[in-house]
Amino acid sequence: MSTGSPRVLPADRGIAEAAAVLRAGGLVAFPTETVYGLGANALDAEAAARIFAAKARPSFDPLISHLADAADLPGLVGPVPPAVAALAERFWPGPLTLIVDRPAAIPPIVTSGLDTMAVRVPDEPSARALIAAAGVPVAAPSANRFGQLSPTRAEHVVAGLGDAVEVVLDGGPTRCGIESTIVDARGARPVVLRLGALPVEALIEAVGPVEVRQGSSGQPVAPGTLAAHYAPRTPLRLGAADGDGGRRGFLAFRERPAAGDWAAVEVLSREGDLTVAAARLFDALHRLDAAGVTEIVAEPVPEVGVGRAINDRLRRAAATWH
Ligand code: AMP
Ligand code: MG
Repeated sequence: MSTGSPRVLPADRGIAEAAAVLRAGGLVAFPTETVYGLGANALDAEAAARIFAAKARPSFDPLISHLADAADLPGLVGPVPPAVAALAERFWPGPLTLIVDRPAAIPPIVTSGLDTMAVRVPDEPSARALIAAAGVPVAAPSANRFGQLSPTRAEHVVAGLGDAVEVVLDGGPTRCGIESTIVDARGARPVVLRLGALPVEALIEAVGPVEVRQGSSGQPVAPGTLAAHYAPRTPLRLGAADGDGGRRGFLAFRERPAAGDWAAVEVLSREGDLTVAAARLFDALHRLDAAGVTEIVAEPVPEVGVGRAINDRLRRAAATWH
């Protein structure tokens, strides 16, 4: 869809043009108070697919949808649990992303197949004006290629994404510089899925105790991407293919186990291409799950680039069953 370099327009004066690009299914990078977002019409599956392609983002990493105004939420998703509504009321517009049930209007590609969606109202006038002018919710992850630093200036976006984006709105450096805090407040106790620009202390002050979910690495985990229905039914453990396979299945990165008789083996990428491996991950796990094995042993992939996300998802799958 894009040809040549992106058009870089001042955020205040480029809104109408950028909104037209969004309505036509194209990609627009725009400033929010956290980082620059790479936006597409969240109601348009093809437009959302362009985000994944432009970022080289694995399809299992769901997008956050952005609204112009908190008052637009019920119109999109219907009634929300009181705690979710209270947080929206208290912190929107602002760097707080809330988890709600995915409405039928939002195509599954936006949520990576999850039946929930992440949504927020950015606290940046030009972003809200853009979304309002487009007249649709705008799905927007950070406007960087997957695995790289989040952009806090329009120049970062141009350098990182080049002509993968049609229009870049330049609003200068972003205010927060880190991503939104993600909270699932649908249950009894709110769960912080990703630490971010809204401090946990502010949440606690507003709603009382919260649970903070963090990865074993000490880094905040990328949440939500392996909901229980996406994890295999079969217990999964991270490890090497040592010993006899027996009735177990093996998820290999690039090579079949040299020894041991395994009931089922899936190889993610013979070339050792992590992007290919990421694209095949859930497909391979579905097949292993369907193979009737007693356990899936999954070999960690190199902890680099998309590999970090693959290992993160494998760790989640393992954590689900241990
Ligand atoms: P970013 O690329 O910085 O915009 O991050 C978006 C992140 O939001 C994803 O990687 C997920 O961690 C999180 N997210 C999006 N949708 C959901 C959801 N439905 N449930 C939980 N987390 C979500
Ligand atoms: Mg990001």
